[in-house]
Amino acid sequence: MTTSTETLEFQSEARQLLQLMIHSIYSNKDVFLRELVSNASDALDKLRLEAFRDKELDADTENLHVEIEIDRQQRTLTVRDNGIGMDREDVVNLIGTIAKSGTAEFLRQVKESQDAAASQDLIGQFGVGFYASFMVADKVTLRTRKAGTSEGVGWESSGEGTYTISTVADAPQGTEVTLHLKPADAEDELADYTSVAKVREIIKRYSDFITWPVTMAVEKPAAPAEEGAEPAEPTIEIETINSMKALWARPQSEVSEDEYHEFYKHISHDWNNPLETVRMQAEGTFEYQALLFIPSQAPLDLFMRERKRGVQLYVKRVFIMDDCEELMPEYLRFVKGVVDAADLSLNVSREILQQDRQIQLMRKRLVKKVLSTVKSMMIENPEHYTTFWQEFGRAVKEGLLSDFENRETILEISSFASTNDPEKLTSLREYVERMKEGQQHIYFMTGESRVAIERSPHMEALRAKGFEVLVLADPVDEMWVDSVGGFDGKQFQSIAKGQVDLDTEEEKKAADAEREARQQDFGALLTWLSTALDDSVKEVRLSSRLTTSAACLVGDTNDVTPTLEKMYRAMGQELPHIKRILELNPTHPLVTGLREAFTKESDHSGLADTAELLYGMALLAEGGELGDPSRFVALLADRLQRTL
Ligand code: ADP
Ligand code: MG
Repeated sequence: MTTSTETLEFQSEARQLLQLMIHSIYSNKDVFLRELVSNASDALDKLRLEAFRDKELDADTENLHVEIEIDRQQRTLTVRDNGIGMDREDVVNLIGTIAKSGTAEFLRQVKESQDAAASQDLIGQFGVGFYASFMVADKVTLRTRKAGTSEGVGWESSGEGTYTISTVADAPQGTEVTLHLKPADAEDELADYTSVAKVREIIKRYSDFITWPVTMAVEKPAAPAEEGAEPAEPTIEIETINSMKALWARPQSEVSEDEYHEFYKHISHDWNNPLETVRMQAEGTFEYQALLFIPSQAPLDLFMRERKRGVQLYVKRVFIMDDCEELMPEYLRFVKGVVDAADLSLNVSREILQQDRQIQLMRKRLVKKVLSTVKSMMIENPEHYTTFWQEFGRAVKEGLLSDFENRETILEISSFASTNDPEKLTSLREYVERMKEGQQHIYFMTGESRVAIERSPHMEALRAKGFEVLVLADPVDEMWVDSVGGFDGKQFQSIAKGQVDLDTEEEKKAADAEREARQQDFGALLTWLSTALDDSVKEVRLSSRLTTSAACLVGDTNDVTPTLEKMYRAMGQELPHIKRILELNPTHPLVTGLREAFTKESDHSGLADTAELLYGMALLAEGGELGDPSRFVALLADRLQRTL
């Protein structure tokens, strides 16, 4: 009995995603079944958990399973579970809408990527779940009833913009999804989803480890008939297709890489293989097994606030919770997997987990294991490591600010752009090995972009003297580099802060003498400039770090950098503007010329504009933003005119 059918529109992002599925370019269409079984299995997990928490829940928890039904005549495939089910609101919110963060961004990228392989890659990275059904079906119907409620919901759609939703009086608890398969492709026998053999193969391949039985009716040929007797009808038997063995509990040697990969896809909702699989086992007083994965691509929402962490907690094979943040720190939020602890109570709560010393110890060991896996990847599989760092490096570096215990290891597994080879990232270990004799510090510069840093005037003297500089252009670099101090006994030193001292002892003596002489020559000019530019800088001095530029801006050792200042402002923090130091190159014609003009004339008001231009140039050269760009342009235009 069905009443009050209503037609509703898909949310616009859902509509676009469905279009992608209908005109699917995704080559492995089999995965639609994996997605449906995965949802059914999740629904059974949720029901068991809910029934455990809420003893009053009026739900049937007997014989929980997933059932697959094929109708060859009607060309339908049905996946049915007796799990948690959905009410009307759930159906509208979960099936009619895409709640996944990063969807808009994903769709934009697909639109932009003209090439089919790239789009396919993106779809795989995003994972489309339930909507994958529309790759193989031209109509999908769903009947569901939420455990503990009495009224069922019907849903139907061809994926083209709208769906209908209705009330179903006699729906059983759980969810039933029926796919009306597209006409069979004569050429493509492999994709006959009404074939029992095909369906069994897909379940075996993708969903074998699902801890609930996945059953299907199969025809068993009858025994050969006795002479003269009527041939017996074949019998129908219900077969459980999957082995249901928890992968993490099986001996490692028995599990194939493919099985691990499919399991990863089930728990992560990622369609790609993981980059690395990490297994861990602890016996004794606190027994647990962990099966963790490092994905091969960062999710689109890696840097979004609300994103979840990917480790599930099980207790003795029973699913307890998703994204268990007590098991993995924020900076390793991209790690997916399962931890099965034998000695926890089934009704363990987050509050209990937070205080549990065993959990804290377990987390420590998991973190160490993940970090050491990356460390060995660096040596044994540099290609994987490169991918890892490209995808997750920015997140990992956050650990330098939060995980003091593992700081040295995090530094060890980090890579940075450097002036040594613009094509290649370097580890700190490699940097230290290349350090020049007598070099005391690990030089670095932070900034908003790699190009801006590499071309900044601050680099000049270091480049001239052959010192390598780390190019730190990630926002997070600004945060950790000041607090970390050093690596392997060598201090980090910003080349845009304080005085950079690159000279050897002998050079130093000569330089000191020269500086003194120059200070005499330039003293009056510097004093005058300091006053003229008082609004913008706190000091004007001669520089030892410039070879070709006329000027640059530097900070005091403990000053906040301009990028960091901007970041704080963006986060809504009030901050006084931090004045910096203007350094001049005493050998640059512009600076020597300025000095001559300054000494020649007694009225210096005409030079004020030049001073301002000099400051503006220094700011622009490091990628900074002028306070009053139009004034700068007017001053510059005036100068240019005079040269014509
Ligand atoms: P995902 O599984 O990644 O969340 P899906 O598109 O596969 O995305 O499913 C969307 C949501 O719809 C699920 O999160 C779940 O809440 C709900 N859902 C889908 N299938 C079922 C089902 N068989 N039983 C209950 N809820 C379901
Ligand atoms: Mg799903």
